[in-house]
Amino acid sequence: MAATGQLLTARTAERYAADVVQGVNLVAETIAGTAKPFSGATPAQLAPVVDAIDLQAPLPTLAAALEELAGVYLKDAVYFHDTKYAAHLNCPVVIPALVGEAILSAVNSSLDTWDQSAGATLIERRLIRWTADRLGLGGRADGVFTSGGTASNLQGLLIARNHAVAKLRLDPRCEGQRLPALLDGLRIFTSEASHFSIAKSASLLGLGYDAVVPVPCDSLRRMDPEALRTALDISSARGETPMAIVATAGTTDFGSIDPLPAAAALAREHDTWLHVDAAYGGGLITSMRHRHLLTGVGAADSVTVDYHKTFFQPVSSSALLVRDAAMLGHVTYYADYLNPESAARELIPNQVDKSLQTTRRFDALKLWLTLRLMGADGIGLLLDAVVDLAADVSGMLADDPDFDLAAPAQLSTLVFRYRPAGIDEATADALNQHIRKALFASGEAVVAGTKLAEHHYLKFTLLNAETTLADIMEILALIRAAGANYLAGKATVAGVAR
Ligand SMILES: *Cc1c(COP(=O)(O)O)cnc(C)c1O
Repeated sequence: MAATGQLLTARTAERYAADVVQGVNLVAETIAGTAKPFSGATPAQLAPVVDAIDLQAPLPTLAAALEELAGVYLKDAVYFHDTKYAAHLNCPVVIPALVGEAILSAVNSSLDTWDQSAGATLIERRLIRWTADRLGLGGRADGVFTSGGTASNLQGLLIARNHAVAKLRLDPRCEGQRLPALLDGLRIFTSEASHFSIAKSASLLGLGYDAVVPVPCDSLRRMDPEALRTALDISSARGETPMAIVATAGTTDFGSIDPLPAAAALAREHDTWLHVDAAYGGGLITSMRHRHLLTGVGAADSVTVDYHKTFFQPVSSSALLVRDAAMLGHVTYYADYLNPESAARELIPNQVDKSLQTTRRFDALKLWLTLRLMGADGIGLLLDAVVDLAADVSGMLADDPDFDLAAPAQLSTLVFRYRPAGIDEATADALNQHIRKALFASGEAVVAGTKLAEHHYLKFTLLNAETTLADIMEILALIRAAGANYLAGKATVAGVAR
């Protein structure tokens, strides 16, 4: 076929539809026939399979390419839709969003300027408005879609940094100082349980990792407001400037939600920015039963929300919201070839004025179709189901003497370890690391691992509303079996050594 035959045009539209359906059918068949989350393939097994493909020798048909792909990728992919995938913050995705994904990539709007997107820009803006309203950010709020929570946090902190610098520039003592000198005294206050993208952002923003002041947490891994107050006071006494307080609404490990009203009050007292990282907990804005957990979020200056976590959207889809639209001006840069200032004066909506990205996907369409088919309540029901499941599993683990639960469920994660009676700390560490690897290698279930006070724990992240307590009991049985296996092997080795 002539290469131009592969361009999607009016002439090829019909074949485009047929080809995409072939790909979709392959995925549907694969998913329908997949009974566990993973094949257990190792990098050593998969790398030669990928390396063996001759990229200089194209295949004659799409059918052949898809058949090859089934072996190279689909057979050994990790499937988040499976009820025994309980590892990271990956969600099964809703079908309306997948229809949106197909549409947005085919039309291929780019959300940087109106003349590359038209109505897509208006749809994105409506969804930013919808999110801001649900968060209670007020009538002057605005924001922009981003590629993920990491990008949203970076943008939120960049705006906070530039806002702090703008204030410093008004101080006569700072007159004539260049940016690096002004950045030197800025500090970010965030709990020791916050996401690593906060520290990474501090580094990227020229502040350095050590500009982040880790604030201690209570036993539920929520930022301790008294400790935050003390940290702010110590820092001010040193003559440093608080650039931002970052509260987390749904920590990655524990799902803990920092005390937002107290963080907001301290931010006001110290005249500093409050950024709320609700990458995980943001979905609560759709929940009828658990929405109250976000009480106080409306007082934030900026908020990160990940639609690709608790809104059941495919990667990528996230947003950064700000309470005062004018603050987005901190990232505005006019370029004559793209978004001239004259366009802003003519009120042409160019989203690039608000974004760190230039060319940008129309991810908002996925959420749009989701809301048009399921409504916010439909998303909320899916989230409520996993919050309820986590509470049930939490009770079950707390009552089981073989398991050591680190904290009761707060959102939809559980940190725990398998520790039957008579196991010392060192063995428990090795045992739980082994269990996680053994499960992944078997592909029967996927759970995550984390560390707590230097000890190795396992973690469930529950985001599949179809997962039942029975599924979790099966995973726990697999954990016990892998554990028993390990302990038996250790006993044998010890026996041989003797
Ligand atoms: C997942 C997560 C992030 C990062 O989001 P990405 O979309 O993975 O970039 C940031 N903060 C928290 C609390 C998260 O759980």
